[in-house]
Amino acid sequence: MEQKEKLLLKSKIIAMVEKAQLDIINMENNTQPVKPENSLGRISRMDAINNKSVMEASLRNTRKKLAKLKTALSNIDNENFGICTYCKNEIQPKRLMYMPESDQCVRCAARH
Ligand SMILES: [Zn+2]
Repeated sequence: MEQKEKLLLKSKIIAMVEKAQLDIINMENNTQPVKPENSLGRISRMDAINNKSVMEASLRNTRKKLAKLKTALSNIDNENFGICTYCKNEIQPKRLMYMPESDQCVRCAARH
């Protein structure tokens, strides 16, 4: 990966980290416990509980993604950044731009 691309990628990762952090805060606010004495009624309460588990799942995913983005950010200046952890080939810069947190090339990611 060229230096110019790396700089671009770096600012992109920083923006993605900030967005993920904001998303997490928003999701945390939306995953407060559902009160049993909910005045919304039973159906709405079921809805609230369903929404809550969907929200919790995406909260977990976003947290994982955030951790990976942070790792990518701290590794970006290493020589082996952008190298697939499986086949040791270079990960396509396009893929890194789209998913900076990926540590596998397209082919390996499809296989593992
Ligand atoms: Zn690979």
